[in-house]
Amino acid sequence: MNEPLYGTPRAHRSPLGPLSPPLHRASTAAQPDAETIRALGAGQKSGDFYQRLGHPNGRQFESLVAELEGADGAVAFASGMAAMTAAILAQVRAGDRVLVAEEIYGGTSAFATTDLVRFGIAVARFSALDRRSLAALLRQPAALVVFETPVNPTLRVVDVAAVVAAARAAGARTVLDGTFAPPPIQRGLELGVDLVVHSATKFFGGHSDVLAGVVAGRHELLGPIELFRRRTGGVLAPDPAWLLCRSWPTLQLRVQCQQQTALELAQALLLESQAGRLLAVGYPGLADHPDHAVVRRQMHGGGCMVSFEVPGGLERARAVFDRFRLIARAASLGGVESLASLPAFTTHAALTPEQRRQAGIPDGLIRIAVGLEAAAALAADVQQALRG
Ligand code: PLP
Repeated sequence: MNEPLYGTPRAHRSPLGPLSPPLHRASTAAQPDAETIRALGAGQKSGDFYQRLGHPNGRQFESLVAELEGADGAVAFASGMAAMTAAILAQVRAGDRVLVAEEIYGGTSAFATTDLVRFGIAVARFSALDRRSLAALLRQPAALVVFETPVNPTLRVVDVAAVVAAARAAGARTVLDGTFAPPPIQRGLELGVDLVVHSATKFFGGHSDVLAGVVAGRHELLGPIELFRRRTGGVLAPDPAWLLCRSWPTLQLRVQCQQQTALELAQALLLESQAGRLLAVGYPGLADHPDHAVVRRQMHGGGCMVSFEVPGGLERARAVFDRFRLIARAASLGGVESLASLPAFTTHAALTPEQRRQAGIPDGLIRIAVGLEAAAALAADVQQALRG
């Protein structure tokens, strides 16, 4: 059988020759004859034909992701949202029902409640942190269960195996947004999910200079997703694909270092909390994390994100936020520089303060996406911002 056109794990650098891959920007490739074009068009032959159908830099990135995730393959997109929407849309039809966690990225939530429903796909919401909530919805047929973990910005951790078991027993497939904890921290496919989606804009790119997304899983599910990508055109371009491959050799080092720094920052913040200068510290790697048992089962470490609640609500949180000197005030995560975000002004701005409180997101909450700076320097930055 022909090799699928999307990436499958394979060695992609020969022992001799240039150590960095060529960048193939060509939007089309000349073919020797009509028969080759016929076979390429019919999917009987693989090779470069037209960039939207796949290209060498994209396939190289896809093969790296497939290998990392232990997947049959991966399909890369121009953004994380393009990847997530394709993963969902390629699997559903009008009349289907999709169950979407309440605790999910705002873009996914908006897509489900604004767009899926316009095409006759019913959307029901469940709390991924409450097993009974999903079990109740699964009493009626569902095509897909879409969720993420760790969840933003509380950094609570969802029991992936439990969600998978419940969905599978009800005949539903699972899609996990694994952006917040890439392998080796968390391996969604090993935990049983059918598809794992990443915003590659984050850890995979790692340098705040790429927008990209990717879906990994089994061939039988990826085939329709790749065909959907051809039809809708959200393919990852060669330049960002090249940058993603360039970032790859440092991915493990970056993630390990960011995770260790996040743990040290969380421990330093815990001391601030014990001294009464913070109301709470959220980090999955701390022993008093509410989901500590799940964290130990399904994660290798606590990840690279830390959140904390300052006393004094939004006004005080704003003031602390504005005083950061080293930590940048910016959306995103997973890059080499640490970023701070204020959920009440960004991801959860549409909710009322009371709704935020009920969702466990008090207005004094600040989220830090930890980068590659020294832990002591980050802790000192938070401390000076708290005292200033
Ligand atoms: N999923 C999560 C968890 C995210 O944080 C984001 C972006 O912040 C996305 C998906 C969307 O990714 P992108 O911005 O690459 O479209």
